[in-house]
Amino acid sequence: MTNLRKLFWEKYTLDQLTPAEWEALCDSCAKCCLMKITDEEKIFITNISCKNLQVSDCTCSDYSNREKKVKDCLKLTKDNLQKNLKFLPSSCSYKLIDEGKPLPQWHHLISEDKEIVHKLNQSIKNYCVSEALVDQKDYEDHIVAEITEK
Ligand code: SF4
Ligand code: SF4
Repeated sequence: MTNLRKLFWEKYTLDQLTPAEWEALCDSCAKCCLMKITDEEKIFITNISCKNLQVSDCTCSDYSNREKKVKDCLKLTKDNLQKNLKFLPSSCSYKLIDEGKPLPQWHHLISEDKEIVHKLNQSIKNYCVSEALVDQKDYEDHIVAEITEK
């Protein structure tokens, strides 16, 4: 991580991050890759992961083309973060920094361990089921959380 400024997540605002720092901030939890169901008032989060997520290692199978391949892919940018904050888990690194909170000690930028997010069950690895394996009529059975503000 040679092109990242030392402790950039503590010293700079999100707007001040370089593209490499913005990318490095993600903890790879993949919680934002869970399918959502919406109605007029609520957003329901399921434990169903996007078909592009490789459940075995919790990575996107086509990360560089993700928003072209998956219409609902939440590709966070400085410009769209604010309107998407409500879709992000409270643990999301971008949300924490936006709220002026510190990153957890296990975050790979601090621990220098990219696997620890999975070892500590902070990711959706071993928790989600792929979209490819779930019939759409059964989605409601997979709801695990809801967001009331839309
Ligand atoms: S929820 Fe936030 S930290 Fe987790 S994978 Fe998505 S963007 Fe990265
Ligand atoms: S396409 Fe987007 S939502 Fe799907 S796995 Fe890749 S990053 Fe996650």
